Amino acid sequence: MRDSISPLCRMVGSVLFAAACLASGAAPAQVSTTSPVPMTHFFVVQPVDVCTDNPRLTTDCAYINNSFQTVRSSPTGANTLVGFLDPATGMLAHRNIWSQIGLDFRQTPVVQYNSTVSQTLKVDSCSSGTTGCTSGSFSTLAQQPGIANGATPTFPRNTTATTMNMFFVKNICSALNPNCTSGSVDGFSALNGNGIAIANLTFFPQSTGRPDTPAHEMGHNFADDHNTFGAGPSTNLMTAGSSRTVPLPLPAAGSKMDQWVLQVFPNGSAADLLTVGASCPSLSACNNQQGATQLSGFLNASPQATTSLFPPGEEGASTQTAAARQPSNNPPPIEFFIDVGFADACNASPVCANASLAEVVIVLTQGKFDNSSGSSLQIFDQRPNPALAKRPDIRHGNGNDACEGFGPTTWCLDLNFIPGALTAANGGFLDFTIGTKPSTIDGLQGTVCYFWESPSGTPYYNSCADLSSQFGGLVSNSQMVNLAINPPIPLNFAGTPGNKPCTLIPPSGTCPDPTSSYTDDSAERAPASGER
Ligand SMILES: [Zn+2]
Repeated sequence: MRDSISPLCRMVGSVLFAAACLASGAAPAQVSTTSPVPMTHFFVVQPVDVCTDNPRLTTDCAYINNSFQTVRSSPTGANTLVGFLDPATGMLAHRNIWSQIGLDFRQTPVVQYNSTVSQTLKVDSCSSGTTGCTSGSFSTLAQQPGIANGATPTFPRNTTATTMNMFFVKNICSALNPNCTSGSVDGFSALNGNGIAIANLTFFPQSTGRPDTPAHEMGHNFADDHNTFGAGPSTNLMTAGSSRTVPLPLPAAGSKMDQWVLQVFPNGSAADLLTVGASCPSLSACNNQQGATQLSGFLNASPQATTSLFPPGEEGASTQTAAARQPSNNPPPIEFFIDVGFADACNASPVCANASLAEVVIVLTQGKFDNSSGSSLQIFDQRPNPALAKRPDIRHGNGNDACEGFGPTTWCLDLNFIPGALTAANGGFLDFTIGTKPSTIDGLQGTVCYFWESPSGTPYYNSCADLSSQFGGLVSNSQMVNLAINPPIPLNFAGTPGNKPCTLIPPSGTCPDPTSSYTDDSAERAPASGER
């Protein structure tokens, strides 16, 4: 996959969203970029970069990632990934961490917000240590308790209340630091509500910053606290900063963060774990973070699709009869089968169950598509008929379309489906052959990207999943995502209708007011062996 991630990112962006993402480089062979756990749900975060009233310099805005980029300094502007990004693989610390319990992260473009007064947030008081906090300045920025009470979020917040707003600010000052000449808090957030603030301090690991701060604050929005649902041990993501492990040694100033990103799931189990367990009927009857988090209204169910490649002449998932099979070419082509699978969470969600697989791009990083005979592309069967909106396109790495930037060794097959044809609810599929070189499974390798639309025709979810050897063929399962590929989601992502921007606490059908229960993640860190 040498140098293939960044172009792939551009490709998947250009196909549907006309936006680029930032992943780059190639992972060392021993590094896993695939989640071994199915992504049953996903959540969406809108980053807001808070700048001065009249920003002139790029540094007039807060940092949004560990490369010290701002929305104004980054060459990719609004389409810049936020948080701690490992430049070696393109993986994000917070996405990897939440993927361990099957939750995938999607980011909208970064919104720039010019407000000098909002660049510094002050914590007014905390009822006990770092919990039960109030902050008028944060409430204003997060539009709370308005959003909890059902108000439509206004700029710079995302208009969808269940899209988490993550504000990047210059300083957050604790109640013990009222003069606030410099910040003393890494992160601050609503417990069981919408709103997260990340301070510049987070991106200085040699000071107190840590790569898990964005993931930790997301947990508070999910209603996970420092001592609930199994938090407390030093290796747990939600444990308070004063007793949470920081991977060592600390990265040198300006160095890559791969060492830290690789110490969390799926490559490490030394830090930022979440407790797993059964689903829960309510927060009050829950004993694990997985079950508790799955109750959150910020989650959307993930649809599932599979792409299978079978050697010529072998019985695969295909439903066609021998009589329907076309006469063999020389050599006979590989058979492809794309279908939408069953996923409990998706089937329980009207928007997910009726989400439509709009586009599939099969990317061969090893081997190539070859329809030079003009007849290797044969559709055996499809349900409904037709399922394809148009004849599939073969794209080449030297071209200027879906495969742009791949280089001459990469080939793509771009399949566009009729809206509503392939959904979880209708069990649609497509069974076809197309020539490849070589025409053997062993010689092929790659990734498949899946783009879903909601019934109203707007983008719903997207993921890329590598082809891996199974059952004598190659299989890509869209829920076993490639964590190094971060396709963006548009600002107008609508969320799941009916979801509230919190976890409801029965019998109440409305969100609690979070403004007196904010959580202050002070810049204190557990001393770990070997630290300084
Ligand atoms: Zn916290």
